[in-house]
Amino acid sequence: MTITELLSLALFAAVGAWLLLSRWPKMGWLPAATLALTAWVLSLAPLVWGAFLLLAALMVLTSALVTLPPPALKRVDQWRGYAQGACALSFGAIACQYALHVMQLWDGVPWIARPDLVDGFLPIAAGIQLQAWLVEGYWDSHHPAGVILLLLTLLASLGVKRAFCGWVCPLGWLGERLYQLRRSLWPARLTPPPWLDWPLRSIKYLLLGSIVALVLSLGGKGSVGFLQGQYHQAADLKMWTLFASPTLVTALCVVLVVVIMALRRGALCRYLCPYGAWLAIGGLLSPFKVRRNPQRCLKEARGMACDKCTRACPAGIPVDRRGTVHSDECNSCQRCVSACPVKGAVTSCLPGHRLPLSPQALALWLMVVMLVLPFLLHGAGMWQSGTDPELRTLLLNNLNFLGH
Ligand code: SF4
Ligand code: SF4
Repeated sequence: MTITELLSLALFAAVGAWLLLSRWPKMGWLPAATLALTAWVLSLAPLVWGAFLLLAALMVLTSALVTLPPPALKRVDQWRGYAQGACALSFGAIACQYALHVMQLWDGVPWIARPDLVDGFLPIAAGIQLQAWLVEGYWDSHHPAGVILLLLTLLASLGVKRAFCGWVCPLGWLGERLYQLRRSLWPARLTPPPWLDWPLRSIKYLLLGSIVALVLSLGGKGSVGFLQGQYHQAADLKMWTLFASPTLVTALCVVLVVVIMALRRGALCRYLCPYGAWLAIGGLLSPFKVRRNPQRCLKEARGMACDKCTRACPAGIPVDRRGTVHSDECNSCQRCVSACPVKGAVTSCLPGHRLPLSPQALALWLMVVMLVLPFLLHGAGMWQSGTDPELRTLLLNNLNFLGH
């Protein structure tokens, strides 16, 4: 992993350690497991992780003497906002590093390393890699982080539905900023009527279906052949030039997406993103769902005309009229939970209102899946791209001549 990836991960790991240690008496073995893991990843980057280990040791020492307060965030969606902001910051730093890496590549072998996280932006390649692995047992060494992230986001959604969209995705963060900006200039709430909303929501599934159809059309052997070709080896560079030197069509598409994001909160996830569709499918299988407890809800328990949870929901889900939210558009943003005046009347939990997810638990689940597992795979040598930097330079200088 490169320095920006490591610093980003260290930031989240420090917050994770704080979460764990502030709940030390309740969490039992988890802080010890965190420290054991930290000791293991120390071998990956001694300087960065040495500093982190020292910090963690100091925190353990402090927590033994005084009780660490939990981070002072009262509302669940505050946690979400900060988590998504921190992720956007990390992705921004990683994008800058990648830009510098590519600039240096034009002149030869760069000394700024390539952050492998950029492979996460190659969903079609990841699908082909997955098929080659499942059907032919072929593991692609050029962009392995792409297929790993594809599987990890699915794993995350099996636990916490589309929380990746609401808590991690930098495009979700950007969409929220654009939406807020548009509302400050033009305050109207723009929601398409249901007859239009439904077909628009189908677009992301059509895009995902097209990618799946394209991948399946290659078959196992075709996938392996594609992955061994130079077009695939240069896939990230192709993607980069697509946005760094956009054609008129690309520029118009980007403008259209920006306008759509500004018009409606969460519009990119709701209408266009095939990753959102992928996570929605995984989320349908998740046992954790937003559930309303009629014994606590003011509507049933006291006969009051409350609908605060519904009004808070950016996905337009009528939470106050649902016992359990099964909607594929729920991204676990927890705004309904924050808006509810009664503690425990609406929560993300298992059937029977068991195990309600605290924001700490939700954030920790995402950290474990999106940070800890990549560390383990990095240690096993499965995360890093094996493409030779000299080959990358060659590919970049001949990008226009590469076909599939
Ligand atoms: S029901 Fe709506 S407000 Fe509640 S977590 Fe899901 S998307 Fe967010
Ligand atoms: S905001 Fe809370 S009390 Fe009001 S309807 Fe929703 S779950 Fe019930």
